[in-house]
Amino acid sequence: SDHDLIYPLKPEEMDWSPFYPKYFSKNSKDNTKKIDFIDVGCGYGGLLVALAPLFPDKLILGMEIRSKVEDYVKQRIDALRAQNKDDLYQNISVMRMNAMKFLPNFFEHGQLSKMFFLFPDPHFKRKKHKNRIISPNLLAEYAYLLKIGGLLYTATDVRELHEWMVEKCDNHPLFERIPDEELNDDPCIRCILHETEEGKKVARNKGDKHFAVYRRIQDPDE
Ligand code: SAM
Repeated sequence: SDHDLIYPLKPEEMDWSPFYPKYFSKNSKDNTKKIDFIDVGCGYGGLLVALAPLFPDKLILGMEIRSKVEDYVKQRIDALRAQNKDDLYQNISVMRMNAMKFLPNFFEHGQLSKMFFLFPDPHFKRKKHKNRIISPNLLAEYAYLLKIGGLLYTATDVRELHEWMVEKCDNHPLFERIPDEELNDDPCIRCILHETEEGKKVARNKGDKHFAVYRRIQDPDE
């Protein structure tokens, strides 16, 4: 259940200092620096660790609902920070949270420049499709949080889920797919396919990997 999850009533009330002590002074709520990327359902944190040195001036947050997994990622990041005396890995952190419920409590309208949804739980049964992390309702929320030009990344080994996510994003008026061939220079593609724990597992089992990237476009009525 979510009863023990702690979340701010609005983004301005969030104290980020425990997550990024190098970037936020304690209890200040001076949130001039802001989270840029989120990894929704980050699992064991492979993507965070891969992105940290690639985007040293971006703050990146992994969100994970299982507390044991969150603990593991926390320890992994603490160890990396301790081994690297420069500021390497100070820009990544992890939070236990239910990303299907509370994202707008943490982030402002147009704040995020990237959102990652990598190898999400497939929820195969039709009755469970409402639990999928990409859905028309949630896409409206993701569009609210992403800045214009911001990117939403999906990857999965489940073809049926890939087709579902593509259909939902294609049909959403505020998202436009980036053709795969235009993504050759995006260093995130290698990371989403090869650096997440789930992506590695699929490779070991010689499974297929599908991905799709969408750009948040301007709302014609805005
Ligand atoms: N993205 C990681 C990767 O590629 O290695 C993990 C993939 S794993 C199959 C899906 C993860 O999403 C699990 O760790 C699960 O606990 C987490 N998760 C599922 N629903 C969630 C939610 N509502 N909020 C946050 N995390 C969630």
